[in-house]
Amino acid sequence: NSFGFRSVPAGEKQPLVDEVFHKVAKRYDLMNDLMSGGLHRLWKDAMVSWLNPPKRAGWTSLDVAGGTGDIAFRIVEASGHHAKVTVLDINGSMLAVGRERAEKRGLADNVGFVEANAEELPFPDDSFDAYTIAFGIRNVPKIDRALSEAYRVLKPGGRFLCLEFSDVDLPMLDRAYEAWSFNAIPAIGKAVTGDADSYRYLVESIRKFPNQDDFARMVEAAGFERVTYRNHSAGIAAVHSGWKL
Ligand code: SAM
Repeated sequence: NSFGFRSVPAGEKQPLVDEVFHKVAKRYDLMNDLMSGGLHRLWKDAMVSWLNPPKRAGWTSLDVAGGTGDIAFRIVEASGHHAKVTVLDINGSMLAVGRERAEKRGLADNVGFVEANAEELPFPDDSFDAYTIAFGIRNVPKIDRALSEAYRVLKPGGRFLCLEFSDVDLPMLDRAYEAWSFNAIPAIGKAVTGDADSYRYLVESIRKFPNQDDFARMVEAAGFERVTYRNHSAGIAAVHSGWKL
């Protein structure tokens, strides 16, 4: 592509993604704050407030590509500590950080951790009331497979929410954002983790991800209904919502 990054064939993508997150796991939370200027916290809050988990026992949620637990912890807190949330991630290093954080926050009774692939969820059909995935789906080689799995494990009436980087709809911001992505992000990555390439890969994966409307169509193609999205920070990030009806 125009930025001279080597493009990664689908079959080689997962090992590369795994390597990136094994390397950065211990500094992942710090990196998120530095690279988004703290904005990822607001976007995550927005997704969880749109989900609006009920304040009653028995409601369950699955957070796929859940990494170090940010979404799961927010859901448990928003539910008044009633929700049970399963964090699923393909990467044991990210989950290890998540487990430690859950314990420190006293949330270990509400949050479970499962190491598995978003493309093959180890749960029966109709298992969860909600499925969330934040900054995860663009890393999954077969996005359509991950979406069908989301649909399968949700109960009828269940809610799908996906937070992901998306298309910026302000030309000025667009340019500033590109400059930030292609210069500052790999530089911060190198300063903090000693590794710029991993972050170059992440930036490239953001560029390749479908825009808001195209992704909405993919969510519909998996069977979801009433699919809508909300932009945040002029589309730097977007949350897509759908229902299994
Ligand atoms: N959701 C967390 C957050 O918002 O802070 C973590 C997002 S992090 C950018 C992406 C996560 O996706 C990593 O923890 C990575 O291991 C996970 N991941 C990548 N490919 C995956 C797959 N095929 N199945 C499940 N998780 C995957």
